[in-house]
Amino acid sequence: LFGLMQDRPLLISSLIEHAARFHPRTEIVSRLPEGGTHRTDWLGVRNAACRIANALQSLGIQRGERVATLAWNSWRHLALYFGVSGTGAVLHTVNPRLFPEQIEYIANHAEDRVLFFDVTFAPLVQKLAPKLKTVKTYVCMSSREHMPALDLPDLRCWDELLAAQSEQYDWPDFDERTASSLCYTSGTTGNPKGVLYSHRSTMLHTLMELAPDTFGISSRETVMLIVPMFHANGWGTPYAAAMVGTRLVFPGPHMDGESVYTLMKDERVTFSQGVPTVWLMLFQYLDAHPEIDPRALGVKMIGIGGAAVPRAMLERFEKQFGAQVVQGWGMTETSPIGVISKLLPKHDSMAEDELVKVKLKQGRGVWGVDLKLVDDMGEVQPWDGQSRGHLRVRGPWIASGYFKGEGGSPMDDEGYFSTGDVATIDTDGYLQLVDRAKDVIKSGGEWISSIDVENAAMGHPGVAEAAIIGVAHPKWQERPLLLVVPRAGHQPTKESVLDFLASRIAKWWLPDDVIVVPELPHTATGKLLKTRLREQYRDYRLP
Ligand code: ADP
Repeated sequence: LFGLMQDRPLLISSLIEHAARFHPRTEIVSRLPEGGTHRTDWLGVRNAACRIANALQSLGIQRGERVATLAWNSWRHLALYFGVSGTGAVLHTVNPRLFPEQIEYIANHAEDRVLFFDVTFAPLVQKLAPKLKTVKTYVCMSSREHMPALDLPDLRCWDELLAAQSEQYDWPDFDERTASSLCYTSGTTGNPKGVLYSHRSTMLHTLMELAPDTFGISSRETVMLIVPMFHANGWGTPYAAAMVGTRLVFPGPHMDGESVYTLMKDERVTFSQGVPTVWLMLFQYLDAHPEIDPRALGVKMIGIGGAAVPRAMLERFEKQFGAQVVQGWGMTETSPIGVISKLLPKHDSMAEDELVKVKLKQGRGVWGVDLKLVDDMGEVQPWDGQSRGHLRVRGPWIASGYFKGEGGSPMDDEGYFSTGDVATIDTDGYLQLVDRAKDVIKSGGEWISSIDVENAAMGHPGVAEAAIIGVAHPKWQERPLLLVVPRAGHQPTKESVLDFLASRIAKWWLPDDVIVVPELPHTATGKLLKTRLREQYRDYRLP
């Protein structure tokens, strides 16, 4: 017996129509790559999205075909989120920080038909174009006066392309399981693999992103989206913001500490999301400007994911900014919400020292994401906060496989996706990430959690950033080597770092050596690039 409720498909186009109807004058602010600040509103974004949809039709783009972006966060990228997916075509957000060879591989693998790009990437596009076999049309996202002189087969100017189109477009209805967007994982090993989201997965993920125990944003917030819109759909926030009419602020290419601080202040940002690296850059700026009182910003909440939140970061946001930190764990393959760290009523009466430990866990399960821990043999592990296991997840916004079947099936017999992460889960359902399976350091058969050691090291007053890797050891198989970047104006020594760590981590986790380096390598999404470090220090002789 079926229910008698209307079977309306869950489609992304409904988000932008809702935002335009109920929040038409809510502002969307963007720092543009060609300079200056642009202001529009949800109605303006909707009108641009309709013009994009009409333009794609005039270019002959069919449902299911891929339209790529090489773009920073801006109102134009936002309009593409709706204008492309709303027609039934697939928005392929390409990470411009990948190596050119990877971008070439991705664009050809995805068979992109149209490529929208910011002026910043004009030289890159010029270099790549001869190798992009399927791209027919290139659209530079700028006005005529900023158009670069490029030699491309069919080069269009954003302003002109859109101006020629109508603001009216009837969004089509289709099956909600239709593909909506495509995002490749950064492929630190092997070729990048494509995660293909659907309208249904995106809409369900959006609803959960808005729950109070998740990010809970509303029309009352001003959200600055620092996480790039090519990193797992900007963590879903562009869709969530449209669903509730949030005021959005986009930094464009300017993600250095000073720009982020200035934008936060000038636009009265109340909530922002980004990986730890961008917050470290903000902190470096504030370190150099002690006259600034971050509390005056009025920021209420900071969402952090993609890598573990160090204790020093949590405490700085809480104490200096008066802001709540909400950590999330997820992956491109999980849309990305997996678990989110919000507290339970029972934590209200918990002593601060105990509470910090809870807050530093990656988060609790949310509806829609089933979690499972298994050992090397596939045996299910208990949720006791101690037993470590390989993390597997299942749910309507978790990938079932990769585009064009690349890499085979990542799922087990029960439909759980293997994340490649090692974690514990406690009796309250809080998940704590031990490591990526490939980053775990094995010393004498036991695991050392690089996350725990790095976080402890970042609490040292002279350390801005820390990375730990395993180096071959004749007796213990591997021993940890710690690399630290000094904080501006500080010169941490090996002895002071080891002293500091001694009271904070198990004795056998203490690094065998500490090296002070000017900087650490990062991946295209701003995370520590451990593969590079492991290569660099492969033959390092520990003392
Ligand atoms: P990339 O491979 O480009 O880093 P993802 O963003 O999909 O792509 O990376 C997902 C991985 O990032 C997870 O599998 C996990 O290892 C790590 N990660 C994500 N969130 C956290 C977090 N809060 N704490 C620790 N690690 C995290």
